[in-house]
Amino acid sequence: DEALDLVAEVPDFPEPGVLFRDLTPLFGSAAGFAAVVDALGEAVGDGVDRLAAVEARGFVLAAAVGYARGLGVALVRKPGKLPSVAGRVDYALEYGTATLELPSGSVAAGERVAIVDDVLATGGTVAATAELIKGAGAEATGVAVVLELAALGGRARLAGLPVHALRTL
Ligand code: 5GP
Repeated sequence: DEALDLVAEVPDFPEPGVLFRDLTPLFGSAAGFAAVVDALGEAVGDGVDRLAAVEARGFVLAAAVGYARGLGVALVRKPGKLPSVAGRVDYALEYGTATLELPSGSVAAGERVAIVDDVLATGGTVAATAELIKGAGAEATGVAVVLELAALGGRARLAGLPVHALRTL
C-alpha cells in the first residue's frame, strides 16, 4: 500500500542496533495521512464508545480517527502533565521504567474503548493503556496501529486484546 511505503527506516535510533520506523513522511503526506486514518477508522471496529491514545503521535492519529468516526478520545499522558489523574501505571521498558496517566473523567465505567497508536513494538505501552482503561471500569476492545514490529512480541504480550495492524513487519 502506497501510504505505508512512506514510512522511513532510520538505523541506530534511538540507540545503536535499533531500526527506528519514522512516520514523519506519512504524517506529512495529505493523501497518505488520509488513507491511514481511514484504515485505522475501520480497524477500530464497531461497538466502540471511545478511543484512547498515548502522546504524542498516538494523539495525532486518534484525533483524526475520532473525528472521522464520531468518537471522543481519552488522552493518556506521560507523568506530571495532568491536574487530576484517574489512574497511573508504571511499566517496564527495555532499560528502566515508564509511567502513563489517565486524566480524570476521560473514560466512564462500562465504556468500550479502542486504543490507537502509531507503532506496536514490545506492547508495553498498549498493555499499560489497557490497564488504565480497565482501572477506570471500562473495557479495552482492541488496538489499531499503523505498524506492528512482530519480532518484538507485542501481540503475544497483549494476549486477549485483538491487534489490528495496517502493516506487520
Ligand atoms: P512498545 O511499548 O510497544 O515497546 O513501544 C511502542 C511505543 O513506542 C509507541 O507508542 C511508539 O510510538 C514507540 N515506538 C517504538 N518503536 C518505534 C519505532 O520504531 N518507530 C516509532 N515511530 N515509534 C516507535
